[in-house]
Amino acid sequence: MRLEFSKRTMREARERAEGLCEGLLSNGERCNANLAHKPCHFDHIIPAAIGGDNSLQNCAFLCVPCHLEKTTKRDIQDHLTAGPVDTLARATHPGMAHFAGTGPALKTCRECAFWNHKLYDYRAKNGKWRGLILPADCNKYRQMTQRVGDKIPDDAAACKYFEQSEHVPARYAK
Ligand code: SF4
Ligand SMILES: [Zn+2]
Repeated sequence: MRLEFSKRTMREARERAEGLCEGLLSNGERCNANLAHKPCHFDHIIPAAIGGDNSLQNCAFLCVPCHLEKTTKRDIQDHLTAGPVDTLARATHPGMAHFAGTGPALKTCRECAFWNHKLYDYRAKNGKWRGLILPADCNKYRQMTQRVGDKIPDDAAACKYFEQSEHVPARYAK
């Protein structure tokens, strides 16, 4: 069962934050949104999935946009990663269902049934599809998080959820 913060920890986090969002904006400044009459979230700074605890030190008081930004852009490999973040995890593309390189050797997202490529991922030229395959999002990630992940390049190392696709797009159309 996933452990959650106690009511006391949440109250203390809100007090520490003085009711203002503790999230960091992309310019590095604190968000400071006033959450007195708005929904707020309590976020595990180090995700529980990789050993973050329920202490006050590991609890951030966040507005909804800051929480979404953190969990979708920065946490996803951690959420779904069993072990500590390591070199492989850092090779992850945000949006992958699991960190890179944990799938079958030499397989890539391009060959995976979950990789959401479409014909329009190819660039048409003179009526023929050709050129590099554009990045696509991962349907496994969608299933697991109920969110559309960032697009993953076709040559990203396969993750452990890899399933062989029947239709593997060639890098260049013939
Ligand atoms: S290998 Fe498949 S399941 Fe894993 S991230 Fe790539 S497309 Fe998604
Ligand atoms: Zn915020």
